[in-house]
Amino acid sequence: MLAISAVSLTIAASGVTFGYTVRYSNEVIAVVSSEAQYDKADAIVLSSMDKESASKAAISPKFGITLTVKNRLNTTEEIVDAIVDNNDEIVAATGIIVNDKVAFCVEGEKVNELIDARLKAYFVEGADNKSEFADNVKVERGYFLKSDMVDLETAKAYIDDLSVKTVSVVTSQVEIPYETKNIKTSEKPRGYSLITTKGENGITEKTEEIVKINGEVSSTTELSSKVIKEQVTRVVTVGTGVNYVSATTKANVASAGFICPISAGKYKVSAYYGDGRNHKGIDLAANRGTPIFAVQAGKVTYAGWDSDYGYNVVIEHLNGLKTRYAHANALCVSKGATVAQGDMIATVGSTGWSTGNHLHFEVIVNGVRVNPGPYIGLR
Ligand SMILES: [Zn+2]
Repeated sequence: MLAISAVSLTIAASGVTFGYTVRYSNEVIAVVSSEAQYDKADAIVLSSMDKESASKAAISPKFGITLTVKNRLNTTEEIVDAIVDNNDEIVAATGIIVNDKVAFCVEGEKVNELIDARLKAYFVEGADNKSEFADNVKVERGYFLKSDMVDLETAKAYIDDLSVKTVSVVTSQVEIPYETKNIKTSEKPRGYSLITTKGENGITEKTEEIVKINGEVSSTTELSSKVIKEQVTRVVTVGTGVNYVSATTKANVASAGFICPISAGKYKVSAYYGDGRNHKGIDLAANRGTPIFAVQAGKVTYAGWDSDYGYNVVIEHLNGLKTRYAHANALCVSKGATVAQGDMIATVGSTGWSTGNHLHFEVIVNGVRVNPGPYIGLR
């Protein structure tokens, strides 16, 4: 009894204590104060692994009681290191854990950049962007199975295959084309057209939320829309009135006593005198071959070809009046011939500077081409 207590005293005084050796196979990897301390260290090593990996990596050590000195007992950190160093299945690495299962692990921490790049792949520049993986993806520094270790290239291929949802709030300015409003007025003749207010495009600022799955737009929601600049409607004043006919013209028209060069019902006016393009005659569209009559008796002073008028006839009447019939298909009179009112002098065609069958009819008063409309009962 005395002897034993003497030994205990000696042990306490010299720092000698009981401990446990931890053996993997036959090799002592650590000396611990208790099995619980080992279990704590082992739990730290296995904590970053999923169940399946943890069971693969688990080693059941053999414990043996030993007498040692206090400062030779390993700390928990040292035990962790010893477990990792002596377990060929385990490696310290960065693991990618997808839906609570270890997908793979890599050396170092460069994989964080790959994850970041994947998340930002579909960001819209200048927008307020957010993104997330469709799966629950975690990156953890810890201990993993060596067999789960891959190189960065393989890691990148895997990460780039992960489905990403990107939400971007984009603000953009959209140009709104101006509208045009025609104001008709009978106070101006047909063919009159004047822009009284210049149109200006408007600008609308739109804020939209764009959701993309792997870069493909899956939805667009307008969050707000604000007019930055109102569009200005272009206003055009358009004449619908008849051409003004002076008393002098009325008198001239009456004294001229013309008939219409094409029978009623066989033509349609396709362009009036003036018509916003300095048109110096009136165009009567009619079928090719429709007869053209002399509007009044007179003398043919021209019957021939001109690159603009095509085949055309000019007849000189009394009182300084002349009439021209252009773009004819065929001429029925020659220069110098005398014609009576109503004589057929040509047929309708589309010769010369013309885009369709019509008679271009001119009335020339003392060398000036005037509006022929009133002379043939038109405006
Ligand atoms: Zn014409």
